[in-house]
Amino acid sequence: MEFVSTRNDGLKVSASRAIVEGLSREGGLFTPTAFPHIEVKDLLDKSYQEMAFEVLSALFSEFDKEELRNSINKAYGLFDCDEVVPLSDIGDKHLLELYHGPTSAFKDVALTLLPYLLNMSYKNIACDKKIYILTATSGDTGKAALEGFKDVENTYITVFYPEDGVSQIQRKQMISTTGKNTHVVAIKGNFDDCQKLVKQAYGLDGFRDDYPKVQLSSANSINIGRLAPQIVYYFSSYVNLVNKGKINIGEEVSFVVPTGNFGDILAGYMAKKMGLPVKDLICASNDNDVLTEFINTGVYNRNREFHLTTSPSMDILVSSNLERLLYLVSEDSDLVAKYMNDLNEKGFYQVDGELLSRIQNDFKAYSIKSDEVNELIREAFEKDGRLIDPHTAVAYGAAKKYGLKVPTVILSTASPYKFSSNVYKCFKDEMLSDEYEAMAKLNELSGMRIPKNLSCLKEMEVRHKNVIEIKDGLKTIEDKLKELSHD
Ligand SMILES: *Cc1c(COP(=O)(O)O)cnc(C)c1O
Repeated sequence: MEFVSTRNDGLKVSASRAIVEGLSREGGLFTPTAFPHIEVKDLLDKSYQEMAFEVLSALFSEFDKEELRNSINKAYGLFDCDEVVPLSDIGDKHLLELYHGPTSAFKDVALTLLPYLLNMSYKNIACDKKIYILTATSGDTGKAALEGFKDVENTYITVFYPEDGVSQIQRKQMISTTGKNTHVVAIKGNFDDCQKLVKQAYGLDGFRDDYPKVQLSSANSINIGRLAPQIVYYFSSYVNLVNKGKINIGEEVSFVVPTGNFGDILAGYMAKKMGLPVKDLICASNDNDVLTEFINTGVYNRNREFHLTTSPSMDILVSSNLERLLYLVSEDSDLVAKYMNDLNEKGFYQVDGELLSRIQNDFKAYSIKSDEVNELIREAFEKDGRLIDPHTAVAYGAAKKYGLKVPTVILSTASPYKFSSNVYKCFKDEMLSDEYEAMAKLNELSGMRIPKNLSCLKEMEVRHKNVIEIKDGLKTIEDKLKELSHD
């Protein structure tokens, strides 16, 4: 499989190079030009790990098969559930539980595997540099990436998070990370400032060529190695529905995805391109409804108020992976480069009617306002007996608006215990300032088990205390690059 840059499709690279580099030089994202076909009927009796092998070996055909198989087994052995991502019921719909990984967020599905993919890629292209992973996080990617990469040889990782834009639990998860190669920095800004910083470090004004002994790479969903493992659970949940007798092979299913950077939902689009019978991909947004507006009108406008919500991982105004969709639908990298330039310079762009209608063929979008979210969390518990986190609640609300046209799967992206105070408040109208007290009370109320990685968090020692201004971000990166170049 070859991968091209969304802003210059004359540039074609191997999967290994795409994964090691993360982002193309002119700022484009590496994207497959063709998709292998996966037969659902061949997956019916396979474990999640075996399905992952089928999908990933088709997409990354250059990887050594045995090594890939072993990597998948090791990565998903870290989940505290044999099925890895079980499918359960929520009312008349289905809940895809993506939160059983080591940090209780769906990002574990990709970030437990990415270090292995990167390592294999690195060997394939005979790269002998140190790898420096730069990551921007709105809360969950940070911890999942830190856990995935900690103490990986020849690799160093810095995570930037918005000082006031993550939950207390998310912060504690990150700043208590152990490992000799981990570095966590709070930025006095929002997620978009963090993401921009990472993109700048790669870009023309960046450091790519100044530090020849270091290879910059990314653990964000701008890296195709992050996106590909997410394709698998669209297939696995479909197979699950078939095996449970809920659908027949070939019948269409819709997926509702709580969306921020558009990575998760784009993986669903790729699954559809690989032959999965998908009717609609429903993009669920919170108050930061830039994607809902785009899918409904064709105008992408980031010049709007930024809201801090109870679903921080979706508090994003510049949704990176939409660029990949624009390329896959238009197959015109000059056009995509122009849109992205407009977005950068003017803060908005508008796609033409034909492109829009092709996008609307596959995607629907709804936004859920903050004041509806608490009611939805209560409703899911009282009516359907499910305790869900605020991100999942946004999707649950979007699913209600969508209706029940075909069997529908709601992606549940985090454990409710990651957002204990906010979730508890939905039931008792009391905001507990101590997240651990809220966790215990929520456990009493629901009987749902607290994941081990969260129950032991309170006792963990704080190891990372850096807080910096946005303007000092590049210097922080450069200092680390200098250090890595010397030793
Ligand atoms: C990252 C995240 C999302 C959004 O996923 P994208 O791939 O950025 O669209 C939704 N929910 C949770 C809990 C997340 O951590």
